Amino acid sequence: MKTTDLLIPTQKEAPNDAKVISHQLMIRAGLISKLASGLYSYLPVGLRVIHKVEKIIREEMDRSGAQEVLMPVAQPAELWQDSGRWDEYGPELLRFKDRHDRDFCLGPTHEEVITNIASQYLRSYKQLPMNFYQIQTKFRDEIRPRFGVMRSREFIMKDAYSFNIDQASLQETYELMHQTYCNIFDRIGLEYRSVLADSGAIGGDSSKEFHVLAGSGEDAICFSDESDYAANIERAETFPQHKAKEPTQELQVIATPKQKTINDICEFLEVDIKSTIKTLVVEGINDSLVALVLRGDHDLNQVKAEKLGIVKKPLVMATEERISDAGYSIGSIGVKDLKIPFIVDYAASSLSDFVCGANKEDKHLTGVNWSRDIGEIESADLRNIVDGDPSPDGKGKLVIKRGIEVGHIFQLGTKYSKAMNANVIGEKGKAVIMSMGCYGIGVTRVVAAAIEQNFDDRGIIFPESIAPFQVVIVPINYNKSTRVKEIADKLYCQLVDAQVEVLLDDRKERAGIMFADSELIGIPHRVVISDTHADNGNVEYKSRSSSEKVEIKFNDALTYIKNKLNQ
Ligand code: ATP
Ligand code: MG
Repeated sequence: MKTTDLLIPTQKEAPNDAKVISHQLMIRAGLISKLASGLYSYLPVGLRVIHKVEKIIREEMDRSGAQEVLMPVAQPAELWQDSGRWDEYGPELLRFKDRHDRDFCLGPTHEEVITNIASQYLRSYKQLPMNFYQIQTKFRDEIRPRFGVMRSREFIMKDAYSFNIDQASLQETYELMHQTYCNIFDRIGLEYRSVLADSGAIGGDSSKEFHVLAGSGEDAICFSDESDYAANIERAETFPQHKAKEPTQELQVIATPKQKTINDICEFLEVDIKSTIKTLVVEGINDSLVALVLRGDHDLNQVKAEKLGIVKKPLVMATEERISDAGYSIGSIGVKDLKIPFIVDYAASSLSDFVCGANKEDKHLTGVNWSRDIGEIESADLRNIVDGDPSPDGKGKLVIKRGIEVGHIFQLGTKYSKAMNANVIGEKGKAVIMSMGCYGIGVTRVVAAAIEQNFDDRGIIFPESIAPFQVVIVPINYNKSTRVKEIADKLYCQLVDAQVEVLLDDRKERAGIMFADSELIGIPHRVVISDTHADNGNVEYKSRSSSEKVEIKFNDALTYIKNKLNQ
């Protein structure tokens, strides 16, 4: 392809709303163009990258035995009513009416549609297992679209859905998909980890997320420093560690005027935050309130809290008004004589001589001890793990890193097939509800994640596997020197014939601009052709990832480049 035939709207500056490097570089390199919040057009160069990612995904999904389908973006409400999600799904589901006043939504995901297909066309256990996938546009009305295509409202996803006769078969497909995802991310050349994710009703290792490691990642994931345990921090469990020590201090009421936050209290009383507890009040079931008690420095884990039977789902923090109606105030609530039922996190439950609110305005208690001052308590795992917590598999300590979730595999079980009557005739002639798995990859997010891992101060350094072009030819004075033009055109034709994806920069631009553009876009290999090099029968080669320039004989150039591509 020639640059004059291509729209490459590179720009020096990134827009103000581009906070992360991939967003800045995708705009600056002219890969995407913003239409509205969370809506992006994929421009020619960007689309080439997306197609590369899709090709790898297709090849590996096909190899796994999955088959490709394409389902509509617009979906009728009835399907979602059947599955129960029309009411459950929040405002991320964009709903609309057609001209006949019928309800529709834009598909954020396709469990309903595929289950509808399976219930029509899968009849016998003999057809199973079957795995369907598509690469298609999804719409989610995200509350805070951000980071460009990393969290957009419209994005491209590869979603797959398997139908299995039983849990054992589902487990097999799930493991096959795990391997397939590893193949995909290995081929793209990403540094990633698969981590245990919250698995809801099924439990066990039935949901895993694939995270690309990057400092800008929205998710926190943790690994053991001694074993291969890896989990999303929402998922990693904590355990009771040691029993509370015997009291050494008297219980005292201390005036703490105007000290509202936990940090204020620590400074005022000169105590370590790790010797304090905080009492968080949340909405419980049946209009009740529930207090969740954590060590001062720990964070409440929403997923874990939602698993407690008495807590309302989804988790809602009680308003100041609700707490004050119950007779407490946020700044001084504590566990002594607390009338609201409370559950104590394991770490908080092993404290002794700790500080907590006194349930009296501007007062705190010091020297509090559970068994002496509070009595029997219920404890549970309520918090996010922190760096250095013991690994749940008993081996080593947990280290926390940031990750970008690029894929998710999930055993759904019979959630949708049961609700939507997706049965087949089983081996014994009776109807069997199929088990399902779902497997997603955020195609457009993968592109952004790859950039987060591969860039320098000049721009993107695309992994060869997904680069928009493999080679760029930069001829100096292409439009003035017939010799340069001849050499450049000849090499270009040779590379095209060899099926190398090559871009010939035939613009009347200064060399500096052509170099800067090709580096910004991240084309892995560059060949410069100039009269000076031509005097010696040479061209100049440079890899995007190295600063070294090499002069090679023009006659060897094709072989040289082909060797570089195979490395
Ligand atoms: P997240 O926690 O990031 O919102 P999710 O759990 O909602 O992700 P899934 O429903 O499992 O995501 O979707 C499958 C994949 O689609 C994700 O792993 C991610 O790569 C991608 N994805 C999800 N939401 C978006 C989005 N708003 N923009 C771009 N890609 C997305
Ligand atoms: Mg989401």
